[in-house]
Amino acid sequence: MATRKQIAIGCRECSGRGYMISSENGQYARAEICGCVSECSSCRGSGAVFLENERGYRYLERCGLCGITRLKVRRYNNAKIPSKYAGVLRSDDMDPCDSDPRSQQKSQYVAMDYVKSFVDKYPEKKGFLLMGGPGLGKTRLAIGAIAQLTLQKAVECVFTDFFFLLADLRKAYSEGIPENEIIGPLINAEILVIDEMGKGKSSEWEQNILDQLISKRYNSSKKTLVTTNYVARESLPKKSRNKTEILEDRVGERIISRLYEMCTPLFIEGSDYRKSEISS
Ligand SMILES: [Zn+2]
Ligand SMILES: [Zn+2]
Repeated sequence: MATRKQIAIGCRECSGRGYMISSENGQYARAEICGCVSECSSCRGSGAVFLENERGYRYLERCGLCGITRLKVRRYNNAKIPSKYAGVLRSDDMDPCDSDPRSQQKSQYVAMDYVKSFVDKYPEKKGFLLMGGPGLGKTRLAIGAIAQLTLQKAVECVFTDFFFLLADLRKAYSEGIPENEIIGPLINAEILVIDEMGKGKSSEWEQNILDQLISKRYNSSKKTLVTTNYVARESLPKKSRNKTEILEDRVGERIISRLYEMCTPLFIEGSDYRKSEISS
């Protein structure tokens, strides 16, 4: 893994990364700063150092030795990656059982390749809308991308599950909490992953809120990464257009047309997809 090794050269605990990832204690994957960083000789573990300018004023600045590692760890922990994906640290780290061995799917390769270059060239490329049946590794790909972006480039990312997002919105509504408290952090995140879009049919009220979320991100040119078991009309093979429930049926036309402007559509085919047609 191509992380900076200046801090922890030779550290056996973290193999020179400066942090360890664990899935223990809870809902989200966690990165912990390794002892070799927390005992930094430059800042004595505070993460910041006093510097002095030419007029003799002292000011606090991020420690040049360990500060960036601390920031990356914080970014990873703020991304709210579900703990079952704690082992996924790169976008090309696919689980072998996610891929279809019969054809080593070309579409899967194309998707992986796009996601990899999205990470490598960040922030140059558009986000992505990853469509296709269950069990083909879509969530893993998106999580690999944000794990890499947080831990290697300290980019601010947030993961959200569509189904839980709808549940949070309904709960907030019933408790009289303004919906902005739920969607505010999602609007502001530099990169937002919306996983399993379309799971749980959204009402018109929910679609309006989602539309706000997507539009505001669009207007501020923020990158959005979406996975879904449904396929949008434009990417659906012509012959199945009238037979199948499409992504637009689940979340409305406006959101999808906006997503097509913000994202590169990627469609993964696989055996699971063919067996079950397009189902959640
Ligand atoms: Zn270490
Ligand atoms: Zn330090």
